[in-house]
Amino acid sequence: MSAALQVEGLQAGYGAMQVLWGIDMQVQPGQTVLLLGANSAGKTTLLRTLIGLLPCRAGSITFDGERIDGLRPDQRIRRGLAFMSELGVFPTLSIDENIALGGYFMPEARMRRRREELFTLFPDLAKKHRDAASTLSGGQRKMLGIAKVLVAEPRLLLMDEPSSGLAPVFVQQVIDVLRTTIGGGSTSLLIAEQNVAFLALADRGYLLDHGKVRASGTREELESSDAVRETYFGL
Ligand code: ATP
Repeated sequence: MSAALQVEGLQAGYGAMQVLWGIDMQVQPGQTVLLLGANSAGKTTLLRTLIGLLPCRAGSITFDGERIDGLRPDQRIRRGLAFMSELGVFPTLSIDENIALGGYFMPEARMRRRREELFTLFPDLAKKHRDAASTLSGGQRKMLGIAKVLVAEPRLLLMDEPSSGLAPVFVQQVIDVLRTTIGGGSTSLLIAEQNVAFLALADRGYLLDHGKVRASGTREELESSDAVRETYFGL
């Protein structure tokens, strides 16, 4: 079986500033893969390059056996990729409208059906579905961000720092929601995070450091990795 995502020798950056220096990584179908790294390691840059918001300067990105590095973001989304940015939602739009945007490329009737299904998973969102996203708490906004990307039933979901701006209790809620909505299903997940608590969700992970992969392995291997310990705990 081919990998859902295969990245080889990927380089990217901004203008004269090179950020990624030859990234090799893989996500297998149905796997959850964690991209760990401290501030400025290049996690966001990698996700933005994978979805096509930044050009791939060298190397290749293959999704389900097809090279996608030359495609526009909308073409990648139509093939089954989705990207949840750190902000995740549009605060002035309603909950309904945010979710509808996530399902922009789907037939309207299917998007509506799927939205109803998601409302059973996220009752707080259902109660306020006509209200602006700005009226939600930080934790609820994150849930809306997740619903917004799940509505399209992506085959590979790229998530940028789902824990950002959340108190620890809400971080645990996000982890639990991801476990129940995605774990064991057909959606592959690549999560960029500084928070090592997300290792609990991961089948495998990569530690990014100054735009290079410094360590990779299974959850257990990373939990006992010296490189992860040095990066996170200065040991
Ligand atoms: P964080 O957790 O802080 O978001 P990160 O691992 O996601 O960190 P990136 O946001 O990918 O890191 O940043 C990698 C490097 O690229 C940093 O040195 C950052 O200053 C730089 N950078 C990020 N965005 C831009 C931009 N739009 N223009 C120029 N440089 C940028």
